[in-house]
Amino acid sequence: MNISQLTKDELILELEKKINENNEISKNLKKTNKNLKESENFKSNFISNITNEIINPFSSILGLSKNILDTKDNDISKIKNMAKLIYSEAFDLDFQLKNIFAAAKTESGEIEPEIMNVDINELILSVLNTFKFKANEKMLSIIFNYDNNIELKNNSFFKTDSDKLKLILSNLLSNSIKYSNAASKIEIKLWIKNNKLSIIVEDNGIGIDKKNLDLIFDRFKRIDTSINSINKGHGLGLSVTKALINMLNGEIKVKSKINVGSTFHVSIPESEATNIDGIALDDNEFFFNNDNEIF
Ligand code: ADP
Repeated sequence: MNISQLTKDELILELEKKINENNEISKNLKKTNKNLKESENFKSNFISNITNEIINPFSSILGLSKNILDTKDNDISKIKNMAKLIYSEAFDLDFQLKNIFAAAKTESGEIEPEIMNVDINELILSVLNTFKFKANEKMLSIIFNYDNNIELKNNSFFKTDSDKLKLILSNLLSNSIKYSNAASKIEIKLWIKNNKLSIIVEDNGIGIDKKNLDLIFDRFKRIDTSINSINKGHGLGLSVTKALINMLNGEIKVKSKINVGSTFHVSIPESEATNIDGIALDDNEFFFNNDNEIF
């Protein structure tokens, strides 16, 4: 285009067009810059969040083990109490690390489902067994309704990713314990229908306000409640849970009422993979009373 041949009006129009184009470029640059800053903030928050999650339990474990070494040999009850605390700290650390690694792997896209023939009953019993001491600390009873599962009773094998399902269930169970009122009841139901596994974890705890029901699945999002101000937590569990469920093509729904309780419902379709990696079986030393009540 020859600028010298343009009329004054055409020249003004042309200039306006160029200025707008530049504005568009500068808007895009600003947006990219904002995204980069957010991503940078996210990374540094992530690191500062996980640093505390790792350093704090480690310091407690070191301090407590030193105390055990300094305790007189015959003070068995003191030693046992400190060993219990060490176990609890190490348990939390192990659980947090599993979530942190799963979050890091899903973020980098490094994670792929490893499909196995999973014995779902065994898997649930083993997760319940792991959390037994946490439930006991709050005098909670956990009811696992598995006798009603005719389909499961006859065949509790289901093709899915055992470790991912374990982490999903562990997060839901851990939260239901954390947010339950002492001496209340947690109920776990599961069934398989039309090649779809459904797991329900229901507590009678503090509940979640309706306006926060979508937020709780965001990373590092913790609802500002008095229980959270004293409870350990990092707001990572449900975001990891949701990412793992998505990876297994499943979905998670939550219903909740403040001061009544929360119900999380996970459903996962059976994998259609044909190259199965093996059978996942879990050892457990688990006992029920007549009402299916555990512990
Ligand atoms: P964390 O429990 O470590 O804070 P999560 O991602 O597991 O992180 O949960 C996010 C938030 O959702 C929690 O801080 C809590 O406010 C809320 N929440 C999750 N599960 C429950 C539950 N069963 N009952 C009440 N609130 C819950």
